[in-house]
Amino acid sequence: CGIVGYVGRSSDATALDVVMEGLARLEYRGYDSAGVALVDGDHVETRKKSGKLANLVAELEADPLPASTTGIGHTRWATHGGPTDQNAHPHRGGRDGKLALIHNGIIENFHALKQGLLADGVVFTSETDTEVVAHLVAAAYEREHDLTAAMRAVVAHLEGAFTLLAIHADQPGVVVGARRNSPLVVGLGDDANYLGSDVAAFIGHTRHALELAQDQIVTITPDGASVINFDGTPAEGKAYEVTWDAAA
Ligand code: GLU
Repeated sequence: CGIVGYVGRSSDATALDVVMEGLARLEYRGYDSAGVALVDGDHVETRKKSGKLANLVAELEADPLPASTTGIGHTRWATHGGPTDQNAHPHRGGRDGKLALIHNGIIENFHALKQGLLADGVVFTSETDTEVVAHLVAAAYEREHDLTAAMRAVVAHLEGAFTLLAIHADQPGVVVGARRNSPLVVGLGDDANYLGSDVAAFIGHTRHALELAQDQIVTITPDGASVINFDGTPAEGKAYEVTWDAAA
């Protein structure tokens, strides 16, 4: 599937434009549905629609999103759950609507994890493996009060191949990504930073990129990107310049 994440400064609240542009460049990666989530004050707002990106564009015209500095977007290639609006990403986690999460790949042990959440009374709104992770990260956030720490606590329990991106309303100005056997690259801008399943997601904005290794978590803010390994040790991405011409 296609994944985009963006964080910029409050004077430049263009998250929706940047995320939608990235999704358009990544649409070849999935056609089952498209969706976006933005931090909006004390909660996250999501819009998602089955079918091609044009359906999401129409949905956004009918039900616009507010200006925001922080957003994520997804085009889906369905593996768990049919290509419906409900199964479209982003998925919300927790009871307060503060967390949104997108995912590329498959969580092999989602069924066992879901049983535990159902036993705790969590209500699911989709059939995806992904929604399990959204609820787990939201619950971990309640303990950790930090999205990077919450992501790290959860990936330790996941099996399979995944790229995950999450935003939380209590930490505006932050997007956290994690990867295992699934692509994720970082784009470094002057006043904004980007995440994408490939550089096409942000090529219209910057050619400075960071390559991540396997089993790493990256946290982007308007000021930069920091990388840790799943075991918590500090890491560094490998910086490179995107030289190919993606203007077409
Ligand atoms: N397994 C997830 C789903 O079916 C993610 C699929 C994807 O990579 O787009 O929703």
